[in-house]
Amino acid sequence: PPPQANPFESRRRIPNVKKVIAVASGKGGVGKSTVAVNLASALKKLGYNVGYLDADMYGPSGPTMFGAKDKKVMARQTPEGDKIIAPEAHGVKVMSIGFLLPSEDTPVIWRGPVLFKALTQFLFDVDWGEEPLDFLVIDLPPGTGDVQITLGQTAEIDGAVIVTTPQDVALIDVKKGIQMFNEVQIPILGVVENMSYFVCPDSGKVYEIFGKSKTEEIAKTYEVELLGKIPIEPKVAEFSDLGIPIVFAKEDSQSAKEFINIAEKI
Ligand code: ADP
Repeated sequence: PPPQANPFESRRRIPNVKKVIAVASGKGGVGKSTVAVNLASALKKLGYNVGYLDADMYGPSGPTMFGAKDKKVMARQTPEGDKIIAPEAHGVKVMSIGFLLPSEDTPVIWRGPVLFKALTQFLFDVDWGEEPLDFLVIDLPPGTGDVQITLGQTAEIDGAVIVTTPQDVALIDVKKGIQMFNEVQIPILGVVENMSYFVCPDSGKVYEIFGKSKTEEIAKTYEVELLGKIPIEPKVAEFSDLGIPIVFAKEDSQSAKEFINIAEKI
C-alpha cells in the first residue's frame, strides 16, 4: 500500500517564539484560563519574555483576567504581510480573539473554514515585539474539538499542560485530553490539578471539597507528570475579575507559590 500522508508534515513554527506551550482542559470551568494566565505571569516573574495567546474562540476570558479589556489592537504592514500587534499587560504580551470580537456578550458561531483562517492568522500573524518570546502560552478552548486538531496540524507546539479538578467527571476528560495530544503528537508536559483543596482561614484545616484526588493515579497510569496542585482561594477569582493575576496580586498566597513552582518545571 502507498505510504499514508503525514498530517503533521506541514506544521510550522510560530515565528519569533522559542517555546510554545498549550494549556488545555477536558471540560470548561476547571480553571484552564486561570492556570494559563498565571502560568504566563509566573514565567514573566521568573524573568522570561512571555506572550499569552487566548485561543478560546468560544469564551475568551484572557483580556478580563489580564485587565486588558480596553487595550487597542493595532495592525502593522510588513514585507511578510499584515501583523497584529500584541498589547502588553503586566509585562506580558497579550493577544486574544476577544480583542477582535464585537462585544463580550455576543456569542460567536465559528464555521469550519472561518475558524481555520482566524486561528491560522492568530498563530502566525501576531507581532510579539522586537525581542523573541521565551515562552508563548496558548489558552485553548475546553475539550477536544476543531481548534485543538487545527492547532496540532498547523503549528509546532513544544508541550501541553492539561488542567483538571479532582472530580471524577473532570478526570475522565483528562484521559481524553492525554489521548488527543498523543494522537496529534504533541508532548504532554504534565497535569495541573486546580481547586485541589481549601484551607480554612480560621482553623487552618484542609478540606478536599471535590473529594479525594485521583489525579496522581491517572498521571501514573498515563506516565505524565503531576506538575502541581492549586488550592481553592477566593482571592484567585477576586483578583482575576479585577484583571490582576494572583501571581502579581498576592505573591505570598499558596496558589501564587504553586504557579511559580509549576513555571519552574516548564
Ligand atoms: P475555564 O477556563 O476552565 O473555563 P476559568 O479559569 O475561567 O475556567 O475559571 C472558572 C472560575 O473559577 C473563574 O471565576 C475563576 O476565577 C475561578 N477559579 C479558577 N481557579 C480558582 C482557584 N484555584 N481558586 C478560586 N477560584 C478559582
